[in-house]
Amino acid sequence: MNFSRPEQLQELESKSEFDLLIIGGGIVGSAALQMASSKGLDSILLEKNDFASGASSRSTKLLHGGIRYLPQLQFGLVKESLLEQKILVKLLGELYKPLKLLAPIYKDDGFSDLPKIFQFNAVSSIAFKIGLTLYDFLGSRDKNQKHLNIDKSETKKLFPILKQEKLKKSFMFQDAQTDDAKLVVTLLRNAVEINNAKAINYMEIKDITKNSSKYKIKVLNTLNNREHTLYATNIIAATGVHNLPGEYKEKSSKIKYSGGAHLVLRGDPLKINGHGILLPRTEDNRIMFVLPWFGNTIVGTTDTESFSGSLDRPFANNQDKEYLIKHVKKYFDIKDMEYISSWSGVRALIDNKLTSTKNVSRGHFFKNIDDRFIQISGGKLTGFRLIAKESLELLFDKKFDLERLSFTKEVLELSNQFSETDLEICFQHYCIAKPTDYMLRRTHLSWFNENGGKNEIRKIIGKFENKNIEKETLKELDDEGLLYKNN
Ligand SMILES: Cc1cc2nc3c(=O)[nH]c(=O)nc-3n(C[C@H](O)[C@H](O)[C@H](O)COP(=O)(O)OP(=O)(O)OC[C@H]3O[C@@H](n4cnc5c(N)ncnc54)[C@H](O)[C@@H]3O)c2cc1C
Repeated sequence: MNFSRPEQLQELESKSEFDLLIIGGGIVGSAALQMASSKGLDSILLEKNDFASGASSRSTKLLHGGIRYLPQLQFGLVKESLLEQKILVKLLGELYKPLKLLAPIYKDDGFSDLPKIFQFNAVSSIAFKIGLTLYDFLGSRDKNQKHLNIDKSETKKLFPILKQEKLKKSFMFQDAQTDDAKLVVTLLRNAVEINNAKAINYMEIKDITKNSSKYKIKVLNTLNNREHTLYATNIIAATGVHNLPGEYKEKSSKIKYSGGAHLVLRGDPLKINGHGILLPRTEDNRIMFVLPWFGNTIVGTTDTESFSGSLDRPFANNQDKEYLIKHVKKYFDIKDMEYISSWSGVRALIDNKLTSTKNVSRGHFFKNIDDRFIQISGGKLTGFRLIAKESLELLFDKKFDLERLSFTKEVLELSNQFSETDLEICFQHYCIAKPTDYMLRRTHLSWFNENGGKNEIRKIIGKFENKNIEKETLKELDDEGLLYKNN
């Protein structure tokens, strides 16, 4: 069956019982669906908005080896993340993009992730060097993946507008990027088209009741307000920052929010030439990234306890944007920093009453909600395979793993400018139901064009039936903070 919404809804008319229901179409739920369906489990995933519309399209897109856990002496987590990179490079095809990152060492401005004692000038570069050597060792890296020492003049050649004053030297190390939203829809396309699973967006789980050996699930199709009743023997709630629905709400995992904003800059105004860079220290003692992104540049992220907008649609506010611009200007010789677009996401962190979200573990956590019903929260994009695998192995007495993904090249070839052919492909194979699904998460049209790609809307909406679609699309782009106010 095609990964198309109408085809799957049609099938749901004659089928209502499943071995496994997955609530939430972010990276964790989608990976769990691919793994479960590859082992023959009759599985369905339902998402209340669009797939990847939560944290899984709003991340910094790094599949990182966990270098920032080294100063916290979390060697296990670093080793696990580095091993994960080695596995993912084989499974994700073109969706795994190796990336070289520069770590510049400045006098009086040691990396804020290092413990205070290692931030002093005399020891900061030695401490960093030891850390990177350990990183290479824990990741059993071969020669061409090991970190490099880069002197000041070479740094200038590679990053011509990076500030040189007080720069002592730099290191270059290897990490990786992905395209989070495209990875999610590729996992789902594999699950549906190859393994015969179901994954439908705009289907909100409203209530769950226990019914002898099965759960009875009330689902609302939010696009036509039609209710469906389904039955499942097992449930995995991969609901990110959201509470469980209905009567199970009180049993939801207790989490704490952390907002993270990013800016998209047109082209390569910071002259990073396809490399990433780690900015050592923000005013609130964090690190920040400047990264290449499909011909453009992304800058991020913030880490704030509050965020603007809703949990479903957070947006980067003026304060977030000023913060990001200010710190780029701290490290780059650039006067006017213009950006095309911005986004914000909300992380789910364990609520262990620490004062600052920056110090809370990025680890994931499971909660047994009921018999054969678990909730999974937190974690990192980088750890999605492990998290999904663990959640399935908690419910079923067998081993699961991700299969090598198909369609990885195709999904990256979807153009970031309007293309009638691509729009049709997205209807047939990437389950789009709204123009914004195509503009925000199957392509980068809204991120890479002025005003959220508003000028292209007329061409896109013609293909959708809903009469109010133009107004709704503009409202959604506005909620995301993508419409410039004077237009
Ligand atoms: C700003 C930011 C930067 C980050 N950067 C990185 C990074 O560079 N590298 C990295 O490894 N990690 C990063 N992360 C972390 C990573 O993005 C998250 O760990 C990951 O995306 C979480 O995926 P998820 O599937 O658990 O949740 P989500 O992607 O949030 O998915 C949960 C889904 O559940 C759906 N849902 C909830 N309730 C219901 C219901 N009742 N019915 C149906 N559906 C429902 C929601 O709509 C949502 O789509 C970052 C996170 C943020 C916010």
